[in-house]
Amino acid sequence: MKVSIWHNNEDIRVEEAPTPKPGPKEMLVKIISCGICGSDIVEWYRLPRAPLVQGHEIGGEVVEVGESIKNYKPGDRVCVAPKVPCMNCYYCENGHYPVCSNVKDRLPGGFAEYILVPEALMERGTYRLPENMTYDQSTFIEPLACVVRAQNLAGIKKGQTVLVMGCGMSGLLHVKLAKTKGCKIIATDLNGKRLKYAEKIGTDITIDAADNVPERLMAEHHKKADVVILCTSANSAIDQAWKSVDKGGSIVFFAVPGPNREVIIPINDFWTKEIKILTSYYCGPPDIMEAIKLLETGTIEVDDMITHRLPLDDIAKGFRLVIEGKESIKVIIKPNEGIKTLKASEKAE
Ligand SMILES: [Zn+2]
Ligand SMILES: [Zn+2]
Repeated sequence: MKVSIWHNNEDIRVEEAPTPKPGPKEMLVKIISCGICGSDIVEWYRLPRAPLVQGHEIGGEVVEVGESIKNYKPGDRVCVAPKVPCMNCYYCENGHYPVCSNVKDRLPGGFAEYILVPEALMERGTYRLPENMTYDQSTFIEPLACVVRAQNLAGIKKGQTVLVMGCGMSGLLHVKLAKTKGCKIIATDLNGKRLKYAEKIGTDITIDAADNVPERLMAEHHKKADVVILCTSANSAIDQAWKSVDKGGSIVFFAVPGPNREVIIPINDFWTKEIKILTSYYCGPPDIMEAIKLLETGTIEVDDMITHRLPLDDIAKGFRLVIEGKESIKVIIKPNEGIKTLKASEKAE
């Protein structure tokens, strides 16, 4: 089978590897769609495990199951979480699934024709796709689950003002989800195309991130934000976030600036204002179930976010599109389709 080995963003190689054979408690899944995540291109985060096969936003078809697997059969349509919590440790019992102490198995990367689903992920990390969900839509389950978790942590409620800083794929999912909750939404980005799209999906006010965001927020909305969600690692956005949060509000670091950059918190300004600073990373099983429901019911629509579908051979191009972030929102890799079939069957680009 073909797999793509990521060494760094400039060096991604498509290579031949033996197709794995499932053990008794494993299964083999043919990858139909695998999304490129914003975190896949973050080198400081990914390099420690390189070279590796990336790709954790997968939708695929079961092709072979081990002899002990009774609940799945070839032909089943599934999504598999990248890693699963144990549900038994101190952190899991307190709902902090992303920091479970017992995560062992990880999903092999989905930028490959097939993946072998390990035992722990068979037991607790595999989800059947609803009948009406396409494989392309299923690549949004994991990113949407992360967004669901962050908004639940922030306790977002109807009528609140939510400021989404950065309108990449995650930021736009934050806009869509907050919209379903009846929030006032303000979004920022440097890219005018993305701001236009944010407007199209219901953002009330968009602001060029190069402007003075807190000033524009007050001029146009006359109130600061109850929840500020940082979906960009730009330092300037963090400074704007401090000045844009209202009394009693929260700032959520959905993206972080990177390991070598320190952030100065204006804690004296915040002291008398009951400001919360939160971080949100990854998701847990309840978030995944909620994301599946949101997609299945059409509460969150994602088809219009898909800008590119590419065969595995074009993965380097896919990464470039995500890194540049100019033309793309969601880039999906289709490992089992060639360039020709892709062009004929789907509107690729
Ligand atoms: Zn992701
Ligand atoms: Zn645990």
